[in-house]
Amino acid sequence: MSAIAHNLQTVRRALEHAAATAHRSAQSVTLLAVSKTFPAATVREAYQAGQTTFGENYVQEALLKMESLRDLPLEWHFIGPIQSNKTRAIAEHFSWAHSVEKFSVAERLSTQRGMTLPPLNVCIQVNVSNEASKSGVAPEETETLARAIAALPGVKLRGLMAIPAPAATLAAQRQPFARLHELLTQLNARGLELDTLSMGMSQDMEAAILEGATMVRVGTGIFGSRLPPP
Ligand SMILES: *Cc1c(COP(=O)(O)O)cnc(C)c1O
Repeated sequence: MSAIAHNLQTVRRALEHAAATAHRSAQSVTLLAVSKTFPAATVREAYQAGQTTFGENYVQEALLKMESLRDLPLEWHFIGPIQSNKTRAIAEHFSWAHSVEKFSVAERLSTQRGMTLPPLNVCIQVNVSNEASKSGVAPEETETLARAIAALPGVKLRGLMAIPAPAATLAAQRQPFARLHELLTQLNARGLELDTLSMGMSQDMEAAILEGATMVRVGTGIFGSRLPPP
């Protein structure tokens, strides 16, 4: 078995274990393999081990990989910060964008998605750690943004995403995830129809699943450690 196949098996088992602990089905949590900085050949190896859903942070890098993996039925998610001049490439080539924090960006994605593709699935990135330096919208600003995005024709607002500050204990890791889940529940109680909580990475996947994550984004745990980004 390849190292990646082995890692994938370990991560899937951890996912199943956390889901079982939370009395949830493992199928209710999608594993997104974050392949940023790793070459197409590595993604192909993960595909051969049964992984079809991949997350990327850098548009140019992702487009090159997609091109060389065109023969595979992969689903691509954009999870990095979104610059306005990159929205067209994201709208045309990805199935999801997890990191929307501005209406202007969502509006561009909606327009540029065009009429031939199904709406682009999007999540709003929320800052649940109360740190000025972290990206994401403030929890109290989320509803206004969510209502505006939900009205756009070319995108489908699916839910919320967060990257909390690292925390040392399981209990501390769970707090911001619980907060994001609570926010999603509130928005749904107020008429929105959101089904996605994109939260949890290699170091805090278990905490996120215990707090209701429906999509975990795991890089290092599957592919090993990365070189610094370009
Ligand atoms: C890189 C990245 C991940 C994966 O992080 P790991 O710690 O390697 O699992 C998940 N989400 C986002 C937004 C990322 O940028």
